[in-house]
Amino acid sequence: MGLGDFFKKKFGKQICTLCGSECGVMHRSKIKGGEYVCNICERQCSKFVRLSELTKPEVSGHIEYMKRQEKLYNECFVNAKRDTYPSAFHNQAISFADEIGMFEIMDRNTSQNKVNHELFRYDQVLGYERYVEKEKPTEPGKPEIFKEAGVKIRLVGMQDHIENDMEKANMGLRSHPYVKREIKVVFHTKEGETDYTDNAVAHFDHIFGVHDNESGLFSLGMNKKEKRDLMAGVAAVKTAMAAVKVAKEGEESLTEEKKAEIQKNMEAMEDAKTGGLAEYTRRADAAEEKAWN
Ligand SMILES: [Zn+2]
Repeated sequence: MGLGDFFKKKFGKQICTLCGSECGVMHRSKIKGGEYVCNICERQCSKFVRLSELTKPEVSGHIEYMKRQEKLYNECFVNAKRDTYPSAFHNQAISFADEIGMFEIMDRNTSQNKVNHELFRYDQVLGYERYVEKEKPTEPGKPEIFKEAGVKIRLVGMQDHIENDMEKANMGLRSHPYVKREIKVVFHTKEGETDYTDNAVAHFDHIFGVHDNESGLFSLGMNKKEKRDLMAGVAAVKTAMAAVKVAKEGEESLTEEKKAEIQKNMEAMEDAKTGGLAEYTRRADAAEEKAWN
């Protein structure tokens, strides 16, 4: 191949493998297998997927999935009661709709001009935590410079360590079909701006039944499964200790307060099986049923 051919292939117009239109070098993306998809078709895709990792049939399937997401958004999400953090935002925000068990990641950056809204089910979430990014100082000895802060979300998928489908089902979790990477939701980029990340994390805690006095667990960087297992473990130990006390001293030895505590611990053990998610799974299933059938 001469140099001319090389440049023609690199920079010349190509045909979009999905819609057949001609697309120049600035208006296309290469997909897995070496074919190209034009910008117009790409706008129908999620902003959280990389087209270079999808084959042509996978991109087509993904676009069908995104059209169904848009339908779900219009039929069920727009009219649901929502909690959005931050409520007034410059960058990104998370909008929760508990009544359908789903959230949207809102984005002020319209440069990508995505045509379909995308929703995530609560039972697709594996973990979440607040993050702060700082940049190295330009001169040694100077303090690091604040870059951004927000919430990181990990979905159930390829990168999780729960390989067994049965185990996932027991935990009430579902793999996301397309998003395989950690999502960063940027809440603010200016130091000193009001920080709403704690509100969003608190809402996730509320969804997953984590009590306020246990939210410290998140700072240990545990994922949801580890947290749940730990909570169930703590509850089990507490209950076992109470049982030993009863065996030794008789049931009369238990105060009403202690009995209530045992009840609570036993419920925590039950919840640990699905993390209290089952209710949100039912709501999300009902919303999908309504929108798609
Ligand atoms: Zn196209």
